[in-house]
Amino acid sequence: MRTIWIFGNKRHFRYKKIRVKRKAGSKTEYLKYKEQARTLVKERLEYYNKFYGFVYNKIAIRNQRSRWGSCSKKGNLNFNYKLALLPQKMSDYVIVHELCHLGEFNHSIKFWDLVRKTAPDYKKIRKEIKSINQPK
Ligand SMILES: [Zn+2]
Repeated sequence: MRTIWIFGNKRHFRYKKIRVKRKAGSKTEYLKYKEQARTLVKERLEYYNKFYGFVYNKIAIRNQRSRWGSCSKKGNLNFNYKLALLPQKMSDYVIVHELCHLGEFNHSIKFWDLVRKTAPDYKKIRKEIKSINQPK
């Protein structure tokens, strides 16, 4: 009886793990939108960086559960493939946000001043993004 119970429990655990992974977006969906997101991100980064003139390194498109984007100290930019599914003003905001981290690696007043220069209504857009509860 005991062995069966442990085995059953393990199986259940494994099943739960798979389900959590799926919440990040199915692999099919990820592969479908990954390149679309990459094209969008590159194009909009170039567009906004004409204004800022920062130097960035690699651009990666990921299937993340809880982040729209991130920026590393090496200047690598990561973005969620689900940006391809957002209205442009929202994806533009995420792109500008990560781009500005190349100038200010924090969320200080200086950072938000940089964001405001190309996204004056960033506060409103931030709220909208939070309200759609993506990328869960
Ligand atoms: Zn940030």
